[in-house]
Amino acid sequence: MPIIVQKYGGTSLADSEKIKTVAKSVMKEVNKGNSVVTIVSAMGHTTDYLIKLAHEITERPDSREMDMLLSTGEGVSIAMLAIALKSMGQDAISFNAMQVGIMTEETHSNARIVGIKTDKIKEQLAKGKVVVVAGFQGITEGYEITTLGRGGSDTSAVAIAAALKADRCDIYTDVEGVYTTDPRIVPKAQKLEKVSYEEILELARVGANVLHPRAVETALQHSVPLRVRSTFKTDDLGTLIIGVNDMEIYKPVTGVAADTSQVRIVMCDVPDRPGTAGKLFSLLAENNISVDMIIQSYARSSNNTNDIAFTIDSSDLMKFDDLKAGIKAELGASNIHIDEDIAKVSIVGAGMIDKPGIAASMFQALTNENINIKMIATSEIKISCLVDKIYAKKAVQALCKVFELECDVVAEVKGTLPD
Ligand code: ASP
Ligand code: MG
Repeated sequence: MPIIVQKYGGTSLADSEKIKTVAKSVMKEVNKGNSVVTIVSAMGHTTDYLIKLAHEITERPDSREMDMLLSTGEGVSIAMLAIALKSMGQDAISFNAMQVGIMTEETHSNARIVGIKTDKIKEQLAKGKVVVVAGFQGITEGYEITTLGRGGSDTSAVAIAAALKADRCDIYTDVEGVYTTDPRIVPKAQKLEKVSYEEILELARVGANVLHPRAVETALQHSVPLRVRSTFKTDDLGTLIIGVNDMEIYKPVTGVAADTSQVRIVMCDVPDRPGTAGKLFSLLAENNISVDMIIQSYARSSNNTNDIAFTIDSSDLMKFDDLKAGIKAELGASNIHIDEDIAKVSIVGAGMIDKPGIAASMFQALTNENINIKMIATSEIKISCLVDKIYAKKAVQALCKVFELECDVVAEVKGTLPD
């Protein structure tokens, strides 16, 4: 029997009525003769609520206990969905990560999956049951509960699909596929029929809120056929995510994204000698701070120093603050500037490979709007520019226009955009 893995997000499970709708959607797949494994997120905004609750006690809640707390959200939704399925006559069983054996590394709040035991799931599927599994959570060898990072149930679903060698993994959400839903930015945006893993991965990395990046990495690694589709319009096939080689490319740029959740840090006047950058970024890595864009300025011959600027996620700023004085002393920097009012605006498209002039068009579009570029980073299929946060919206609109994306665009935003 074909195995279908499905994942439903929090908005699809926001209340008991919606859970009943999800149960019907699960049964539709069962009635087509498939074995179904359903991964669920926490109901509605439960995870946000639980985080807020802990922060009412302390600004820095203990990370182990946060995982204990947050994992309860998915604990509620697995049981609720299994109750709904059974009440409709569909045999089902719910499992948390510990019961299945979703094994992760020993890190709290952002753990990676290292292996998934499939025997228990297979045993229940063979009995004709729908298996409902908690997303977002994992378990270590030492039976510690971990979580995979915000939005991580996408990754749970794809990893389970890969482990089961499922025929398909459907990510159900409240929109009809991969596209913008933010009319403030691009009113005419439409759904994409197909997009490549590589493009989605870049879009997710540059701030688009499409799928959890590790879900896409896992899908790419294991060639898991992935669809993003609507819980409320199950006849719509949504967006198919496939390998870049299977795409027919029409436009150099497929998507535009803005990320307003980054912070720029400038280390001023650090000595220009071998090992400085190594020391700085090792210190950050040891403290689990990931760095995104990096620029090192040309060395000033007068005093043999230069500036190193980089960006980190604003959620890591508190950790950086703790290290700041030590880093300044260790590197011999004259000063450290922190700029929170920035946004990273990016264009992504597999079609830009080997096509000259894309970067020039991007920079010119920003220049035409009088937007100053503070940093630039590129990959084979992406160009990102750091700009002042107040210009993020204008920049996205200008880029959509210049790359003719108003009709099939992925314009996604992480964080809030100032008007
Ligand atoms: N419930 C978790 C969150 O809100 C995981 C997820 O939804 O994927 O981040
Ligand atoms: Mg999500």
